[in-house]
Amino acid sequence: MSIQRTIHTAGAWRAALAGDSREVIDPADGLPFAVVAEGRAEDADAAVASARASFDGGAWPHTPVAGRAALLRRVASLLIRDREELALLESRDAGKTVAEGRIDVDCVADAFRYFADLVLADGAGRVVDAGSETVHSVVVHEPVGVCALITPWNYPLLQASWKIAPALAAGNTFVVKPSELTPLTTVALVALLTEAGLPPGVANLVTGAGQTVGARLAEHPDVDLVSFTGGLASGIKVAQAAAPGVKKVALELGGKNPNVVFADACETPAGFDTAVDQALNAAFIHSGQVCSAGGRLIIEESVRERFVAELARRADRIRLGRGTEKGVECGPLVSLAQLERTEGYVVSALADGAVLRSGGARPRPSEVRPEGGYFYEPTVLDRCHRRMRVVREEVFGPVLTVETFRTEDEAVSLANDTEYGLAGAVWTADAGRARRVAGKLRHGTVWINDFHPYLPQAEWGGFGKSGIGRELGPSGLAEYRESKHIYQNLAPRPVRWFSG
Ligand code: NAD
Repeated sequence: MSIQRTIHTAGAWRAALAGDSREVIDPADGLPFAVVAEGRAEDADAAVASARASFDGGAWPHTPVAGRAALLRRVASLLIRDREELALLESRDAGKTVAEGRIDVDCVADAFRYFADLVLADGAGRVVDAGSETVHSVVVHEPVGVCALITPWNYPLLQASWKIAPALAAGNTFVVKPSELTPLTTVALVALLTEAGLPPGVANLVTGAGQTVGARLAEHPDVDLVSFTGGLASGIKVAQAAAPGVKKVALELGGKNPNVVFADACETPAGFDTAVDQALNAAFIHSGQVCSAGGRLIIEESVRERFVAELARRADRIRLGRGTEKGVECGPLVSLAQLERTEGYVVSALADGAVLRSGGARPRPSEVRPEGGYFYEPTVLDRCHRRMRVVREEVFGPVLTVETFRTEDEAVSLANDTEYGLAGAVWTADAGRARRVAGKLRHGTVWINDFHPYLPQAEWGGFGKSGIGRELGPSGLAEYRESKHIYQNLAPRPVRWFSG
């Protein structure tokens, strides 16, 4: 374990200006396995100065779209070259299984390729019909400027890439600040950008805490745009810090995501098996540390008992352990704080009358689960209701609550009864009902008879307090662009409004 030079400004890697460092903890055993530089406000200032200089005087904002797209494609190839190494690093850092880490790397490479194609397709802007033969009017796209990109710990490489790829495609320069809990794959990604040929000063990185580095980036007068992914409380602070500078702000925040299951989806054995299996996946993949986790099962009363019994039986069999071990299906929570928070939600739910159907405790250490790891059993809480904290607030742990309904209207009303609005699903064999319910759900993504898939070409983001703006899709690129209308009069003459 050596002190790493993990701060990147003006094209060089260096330690924190104050010389501080931070240990990176492996959540599977609670032990440090790497050390990174612990940046502070002055490191954020240096990074912003580097991004500002390279935006105002550098070549990148004026690089033709073909050049930017080619760079993004090279990054995608390098990610695939380093897929195994990145997947392993993400597993150690965030606790997820290596298999999940590989999927993340593939999705990240897809996102780089998607934004390369998108910017090539519409990089030239559009000609506007001004209603006159003597006017030539065009709307062109320009980069916003210096972007501060602040990311969370659950999908470190993926969340950073969903920001970095469109920011670069649009011609911006940036400072990225990864979560202090999981900085390592973002450091690796910035190194790959340099290897792909990005000019020095375009990509800057500061490792450090949210309250110091993140807060400084959000308020910095030379930052033009802040794109933040993380929790609601931090997102509000970021928006407040950015407001006096009237910066562009994009927020991707939490969710409390309903998984609505109608009895008709469970009529055949295959339908029942699929709906249960996907409900399990919706709630427990990555130990529920997913912004779109389907932590709220809302099920038709007539099938509740059969469904929950099978769900609990399968939840009990999920193999918990270190993400790098063969056969492990679910890793630990990211930190002790996250483990204790999850326990607190379960205790409060049980005190409020919830019925424990599986889990509800830390598992015993084993060969694949070292003592000191932040493991928590996949937990199913039956007989929940909307007034419980566990139903209203984002747990961000392996906890599934069960509520029931009798009518379609009741199902929709329960699913929409949240201050968030990130994602939700409806399971039914009735195509008309599927479309009716999907149309009424106030969530940014609605899955019908599925859970969790997303596409780089489709917008991702939330209604309500799940955020402002969208990532991915054409809107994900638009976040990083200014539109400029250039109106050219081809035959200028006096207007004679004023007679004198
Ligand atoms: P967090 O809010 O604690 O931290 C996110 C990032 O913000 C970190 O880099 C942190 O250092 C930084 N930060 C914290 N306080 C800050 C401040 N005052 N100013 C500037 N930066 C600050 O979130 P987390 O615990 O890392 O991540 C979990 C949360 O992220 C969950 O709520 C989850 O739903 C959300 N999330 C949302 C999406 C989405 O697409 N909507 C995706 C992933 C995660």
